[in-house]
Parts: sequence; structure tokens; C-alpha cells
Amino acid sequence: MDTKYIFVTGGVVSSLGKGIISSSLACLLKARGLRVTIQKFDPYINIDPGTLNPYEHGECYVTVDGHEADLDLGHYERFTNVHTSKANNVTTGRIYQSVIDKERRGDYLGKTVQIVPHITDEIKRRVKFLGNTGEYDYIITEIGGTVGDIESLPYLEAVRQLRWELGQNSLCVHLTYVPYIAAAKELKTKPTQHSVKALQEVGIQPDILVLRTEKEISAEMRRKIALFCNVAHDSVVQSMDVNSIYKVPIMMHRQHLDEIVLRKTGMPVEGEPQMDSWLHFIEKMDNATETVTIGLVGKYVELQDAYKSINEALFHAATYADRKLDIVYIHSEKLTDANVQERLQGMDGVIIAPGFGQRGIDGKFTALKWCREHDVPTFGICLGMQCMVIEFARNVLGLEDANSTEMNPHTPYNVIDLMEEQKNISNLGGTMRLGAYDCVLRPESKAAAAYGKQNISERHRHRFEFNDDYRTRFEEAGMACVGENPATHLVEVVEMPAKRWFIGTQYHPEYSSTVLSPSPVFCSFINAAIEYHNEKESAKASE
Ligand code: GLN
Repeated sequence: MDTKYIFVTGGVVSSLGKGIISSSLACLLKARGLRVTIQKFDPYINIDPGTLNPYEHGECYVTVDGHEADLDLGHYERFTNVHTSKANNVTTGRIYQSVIDKERRGDYLGKTVQIVPHITDEIKRRVKFLGNTGEYDYIITEIGGTVGDIESLPYLEAVRQLRWELGQNSLCVHLTYVPYIAAAKELKTKPTQHSVKALQEVGIQPDILVLRTEKEISAEMRRKIALFCNVAHDSVVQSMDVNSIYKVPIMMHRQHLDEIVLRKTGMPVEGEPQMDSWLHFIEKMDNATETVTIGLVGKYVELQDAYKSINEALFHAATYADRKLDIVYIHSEKLTDANVQERLQGMDGVIIAPGFGQRGIDGKFTALKWCREHDVPTFGICLGMQCMVIEFARNVLGLEDANSTEMNPHTPYNVIDLMEEQKNISNLGGTMRLGAYDCVLRPESKAAAAYGKQNISERHRHRFEFNDDYRTRFEEAGMACVGENPATHLVEVVEMPAKRWFIGTQYHPEYSSTVLSPSPVFCSFINAAIEYHNEKESAKASE
């Protein structure tokens, strides 16, 4: 069969959840046995989001092949259980960079290089890149931004041309918003009509409309929207707010979104998607009554998207353990010796978040000292693991002012130091140790027990690393280096065997947790937190 291309655009406002709709559709098509991938085209000039801070763009996601990507790629993986790659996330910056590189090489043979056709051709080439591999039946392309943005225009022009070239092998799903005006007690369709008009003005007629809404949209209102927007009546689907993003595929299937897509792309509509495992997860989520409470210590806790993958990985693990998840965000800048007891004592487990730079770092040490001394299940991720090492050096090994050279280049005890390969790097973009690396776990370690195996592979994003010169001293004092890279011997996992669950990973296991395949180390952490919770409860009962 020919590869089919689905374009997902958005109108009216941003943050409507194009990523979730794209992921949900992919999830359904995949559950029908089709080979699907999703890619995102972002209209900003940065080459990738690696240089954007979380205030700008939420979490930076990392693919197995070491690309710093938009956090929507995390949703794509969590919903489809399929790895994405560098090719799945393209920005305007990358498009322009390759066109300009070609111009410098002389590839345009003296021609004037223009947005149309050169930029649009480069967009088209990249849209079709994964399709041309022959590995996929459906390529879903999410166009970032909102219709009407200046930045989106070249992408929409490329989509217009591609629709023309691809015919029935392509379609456009447009996501809009139907606001509820409380004073008038009415849902309003006008913004949707306007945004479809804006799309039509650039020559794109959407085939399917997905209407984001807080209230049920009546059949009559849907008919009206269909009529005014030139869309078939059965192709207007509503996306009502639900209590979990993981219910969106089910909601879309009830309205036959997957069938409409198959039909419109000339595919047979047979049978049902195999969603048993997915529904099992939803059922567990809905039936959980008891709660597990996890404290997340970081400096971006006021930002909803800064720790997206960690939140989701915790949620997957808690759900499989039949628990509701309560994440308590603890601002590392506000944590002190005076309030740490009060802030952390209700936690069943504590996560020390990844991050960069000095800000908020002292709060992480304070939290870690308290957790270590009170034997609370504690999970340090990347910078969190490095902080575990530093706190241990200072307070157990007695190495005063031990630090990472990231925070203090002149520390007398550089227990965390810049990796050798990083020493001559001057550009910040895309130059960290990125992507999946192998790690071998010590057989008797808690980490190996968590994974149920010794050989693992997880994703990284860092420049600094445990300083091997200190390994023996740490081991002797009770912090073991239980995971290392087989090729370079870099320390990837530390743990305190004497504690309930005190593990730090230099890698980010949260990136590989999906609904159908939750992260083993997160599951183990949550189980330890539940056990600790139960111990605390029975201690209270016997008081
Ligand atoms: N700042 C640390 C480093 O570069 C940790 C990075 C992270 O937490 N992702 O090594």
C-alpha cells in the first residue's frame, strides 16, 4: 500500500492538545495493526529545543538516537510504544539551515533562493522522509503553532502542495476550540468557522474537524459547523475535557475517528482496534482508591510541563501498582533545614529532579540529607543523582565543599566533573552526551532487581559525570556504583544498599516509560514508596 499522510493543524488558540489528538489517532491505528509514526514540525528558529529553558517550552525530550526534541514526542512514544528519532522533529531553524548549507555548496546553480519553492520543498522533503523509508503505513504530521501565525505559513503552503500531490493518500485534521460563554450559557462556533476560513484562505480544506470543548456539543451544532466549514457531517468529532489524557484514544474511537481516517484514505474498515491492554490500564486507573504520595524536588515546580516525562512515568508506575498518584511539588529554592522535616515527612517517596546550574541546588542537598537520614525511598535523576553523590561526599565522607565543577569549578573535591569528551566543546546546542547508552548493572543491586536484568539501555542528557577517582571511597562508605557503561566505564547508577531504596541514575529513565511498557525502575521506586507508606501506617496503628 502507499504511505498515507495525515496532517494535524490547530486553530483558535494554542495548547488545545494537537499532540494528544495526533497520539490518540496513532494509538488507534497502531492497535489496528498498522505501522504508524508521528512527527512534529515546529515553526521556531531554534535548531532544536535543547537550548530553550523550561519556561519557554517545557521539558526537553530526548530520543534514543540522541535528539533533543519537543515534549510532544514524549506523548507520541507514550501513546504508541514506538521510538521516535531525529527525523520526527523538525524546526524552521533546521529547514533554513539545510537550505542555506545547500546554497553555500552551490546546489541551487545560481538561482535566487526563496521561501517558495526552496523552503517549502525542503519542508516537503522532510515530511516525506520517514514515509520514504517504507517502514510506515501512516505518517502523522503535527504542524506546531496555530493557523494564522506568520511562522506557520511556509508549512501550510507545503501541506497544501502535498495534499494536491498525494490526493487520497493524505488528509487534514484540524483541531479547534469551541468556547463556552458562561454569561450567555452557550457554546460558540464562530472561532471555529474563522479558523477554518483561515485555513481555506491558504488553500487547505480540512477533512476532519476535532472540536475541543468543555461541554457536550449537540448533534445540531455539529451539523451547523459541518455545513459552514465544508466538512462531512460525520467528520466533526468533539474532544471533551477528560480526567486523563489516556482516555482520549477511547473517546476518539467511540466517535469513529480511526474509521473515518481509514475510509477517507481509501483503506478497508474492518474489525476493531486491539485496545485490551490499554483498557486494562484505564480500568486500573479508574479503580484505584489508595494514594501514593511522591515529593518532587526541583526548581521548575511551578511549570506544568517542566517535568512532563517524570510525571507520566510516575503515573504509569502508580497505575500499575493500583494507586492514585499524588505528586507534591517542592520548590528546591524554598527548602531549608528549618522546613525540610515539615515539607517531606508526609512523602512516601522523593524524587530529586534533573536540571542545570546552581539555582535551587542547596535545597536538593537539604532534601537528600533528610531523606538519607530518614531512610525514605529516594530517586535521583541526572542532576538529582549528581546531588546524591555530592551530598554523600560532604556529609558522609566529610569532604567539605565537595561539588560538581558545574557549580564550583574550583571545588577541592570534584566528585562530579566534566566528562573528558566535553572538555573542548564550546557550542551549547546539541553537544551534551545525548541519547541511549548501554549500562551493565551489578547482579546483586537493587537497580538490577528493579529491571529484572543486568543489561539495560537508557537515555542521557548531561555533560558532567561521577568522578571515578572517588569510586573506592564511596563504595567503602556505603554508596555503591552499581551501574556502568561497558565501553567507557562511566558510572551510570549509584545506590545505597543499606537503605530501603536510594538510587540515583545518571540517565533519564522517564523518557522510555510508556502506557504499555512502564519504566521498571519507576515501578520499583513506586513499589518501595507503597511499602514504606504501609510500614508508616502500621507503625501509626500500633502506637
Ligand atoms: N547539569 C547536569 C549535567 O550537565 C545534569 C543534567 C541533567 O540533569 N539533565 O551533567
